[in-house]
Amino acid sequence: MKGPRISLALRRWFDSGAAVAAAGDGDPRRSDWPRVVPFVLVHFGCLGAIWTGVSATAAAVAAGLFLVRMFAITAFYHRYFSHRAFRTSRAAQFAFALLGATAVQRGPLWWAAHHRQHHARADQPGDAHSPVQDGFWWSHVGWFLARENFATRAALVPDLARYPELRWLDRFDAAVPAALALLLFLAGEWLARAAPGLGTDGWQLLVWGFCISTVALWHATFTINSLAHRFGTRRYATRDDSRNNAWLALLTLGEGWHNNHHRYPGAARQGFFWWEVDLSWYGLRLLAAFGIVRDLRPVPAAVRDSHRRPPRELPR
Ligand SMILES: [Zn+2]
Ligand SMILES: [Zn+2]
Repeated sequence: MKGPRISLALRRWFDSGAAVAAAGDGDPRRSDWPRVVPFVLVHFGCLGAIWTGVSATAAAVAAGLFLVRMFAITAFYHRYFSHRAFRTSRAAQFAFALLGATAVQRGPLWWAAHHRQHHARADQPGDAHSPVQDGFWWSHVGWFLARENFATRAALVPDLARYPELRWLDRFDAAVPAALALLLFLAGEWLARAAPGLGTDGWQLLVWGFCISTVALWHATFTINSLAHRFGTRRYATRDDSRNNAWLALLTLGEGWHNNHHRYPGAARQGFFWWEVDLSWYGLRLLAAFGIVRDLRPVPAAVRDSHRRPPRELPR
């Protein structure tokens, strides 16, 4: 690789505005390895636990950041930015976008645009991550690393691109996880001095709070693209192959009710019945009670019950 190609790859780590296809990029379906280096490094970073060990503090920080960031992905990147399933203030909208960006799944416009494309073409040619079209690995992680999917499909998110603060965050989304990693390291170093009894330090919090928590978060989120279009039950005869899967719903705070979601993507809840545990929906209800969000879009009863056919007459 020549000098200009390396500098372009490095710029793309920090400035997704440089992500538009450039001459010499090569096969759009292949992984963009120079740009994927940080993604690979975070995976290898998990091995750092061999040297840092673990403490109750580090495990709690990893679990806490998994939960908070999973909520940010499902409630904000998915239900708010992609589907506009509720309303909020402009300030809270930016706070939600920042929180979503800590999940290291690129910016809010990038995420929402790819997701809207998924709904428009679900399991048909043109769906960026369909296991039916392209197999398990592509739908799980291949599409996320492929050259053709790095740029934000701005035409699909004009309602979000109106806001300069969201466009800025979408362009420099990598700054947010970088700041989180630095903050974790500094907090760990501070705790090592202020509360040595906790048995933690900067490297340990970096490995557990950032690397391990983020890798778990990535692959849990990706199961909705890969497994939730393959394994589970289909209550509604949608045009795609989406499934309802209680295990995935627990893992992803509600996203596993994916067949429900494809039946009616505009609702703020994905568990359509009381027994379908949807932790993100409960979290949104709580935010609504505090007045932070409003107008949570419900599931119309006719849609919810549309799988029930009228009773047939018994043959005589
Ligand atoms: Zn889907
Ligand atoms: Zn969706």
